[in-house]
Amino acid sequence: MRQNEMFLLKLGEVVLKGQNRRSFEDRLVANAARRLKPCGSFQVYIRQSTIYAEPVTETCDMEAAYAAARQVFGVVSVARAAPCEKSIEAIVETARDYLADAFASARSFKVESKRADKNYPMNSIQLSQAVGGELAEAFPHVKVDVHSPDLTVHVEIREKHAYVHAPAVPGAGGLPVGMGGHAVSLLSGGLDSPVSSWMMARRGVELEMVHFVSPPYTSQQAQDKVLELARLLTAWCGRLRVHIVPFTEIQEEIRKNCPEEYFTLIMRRFMMRLAQAVARRAGARALVTGESLGQVASQTMMALAATDDVAEMPVLRPLIGMDKVEIIRMSREIGTYDTSILPYEDCCTVFTPRHPATRPKLEDVRAAEARLDVEALVAKSLEGEEWVWVKP
Ligand code: ATP
Ligand code: MG
Repeated sequence: MRQNEMFLLKLGEVVLKGQNRRSFEDRLVANAARRLKPCGSFQVYIRQSTIYAEPVTETCDMEAAYAAARQVFGVVSVARAAPCEKSIEAIVETARDYLADAFASARSFKVESKRADKNYPMNSIQLSQAVGGELAEAFPHVKVDVHSPDLTVHVEIREKHAYVHAPAVPGAGGLPVGMGGHAVSLLSGGLDSPVSSWMMARRGVELEMVHFVSPPYTSQQAQDKVLELARLLTAWCGRLRVHIVPFTEIQEEIRKNCPEEYFTLIMRRFMMRLAQAVARRAGARALVTGESLGQVASQTMMALAATDDVAEMPVLRPLIGMDKVEIIRMSREIGTYDTSILPYEDCCTVFTPRHPATRPKLEDVRAAEARLDVEALVAKSLEGEEWVWVKP
């Protein structure tokens, strides 16, 4: 690590948010600072829509911090940069030294300059020419090519220093977690719900997770797998609370009293009611599920209507129009795939009907469910609720 190397995080949509911009920026700085903390001591602050993250000690893990910075929602790009004085000499020397490896493997380059400090005596074209000219002399084997260079050297003139860096890499995009409200996400051990949770977190939603367990039909390993999925998501969302809600008795009562073709639907209605109760207590205002239209019998349009019948808050289903292959690709990208495919049973799969209703009539589902004491079952299940904090 070069001694004073640091990170520049560029803001995305946040920039557009007019008068809310200040609170977006404050939130983003706080989120970024919190997420870099495990990588060492960093000073994190914002100037002119750019977050500066500077290591304070030499023991900072710069590789881990680089990865962490790329997982902060609200950041569109991340650059590792070297600060220096604002003189041409200092900039050229820094670029020669800091980007020596990149120059060694490039055949062509150009310099792109930006001035956040508008009082700087040169404009950006003059600056690029001056720095480019000197670098061309310093690396005679590398030609200037302004159209498609192997290497673009970025020079940014900012308030106190100039910054030299190679091209930035894409950040996570989206909005800072906490700016999009607070929701409860139904997290199973499958492929879909970690992806749906991630998608809503990327829109700035602060999440709490709820997971339903049906011991002895579902195992401790199945529950641990879900906690591991939540842990993987904390790399993107920060720490998460996971509510573990017992579901065995509800499932047994449904099996005992209701027509088999409606098992799954009635079960899903109970999940909604329970998740909603958890959300109300937590002050959350929406639910998130990993449902995708037509993926299984309980996700046909009529089945979704039967589920939504008991929902008293918005149910966000970010995967509703996505294909399974796209969902799988995303789960690989966000790092949950390998855990999701571990073969532990979910409570959804323990009492599956042989012929589930795919075009259920709402009245029939309601009538089938009326054989149960819904309120008592919900209340009892909630009594057994426990929660754990999962940390990055
Ligand atoms: P997933 O891959 O997320 O498990 P799925 O395709 O298997 O989804 P279902 O099992 O029908 O679909 O579940 C639909 C949604 O219901 C899930 O995406 C999840 O949001 C929620 N869900 C299912 N099982 C549970 C559970 N045990 N605890 C919490 N939520 C659950
Ligand atoms: Mg599932």
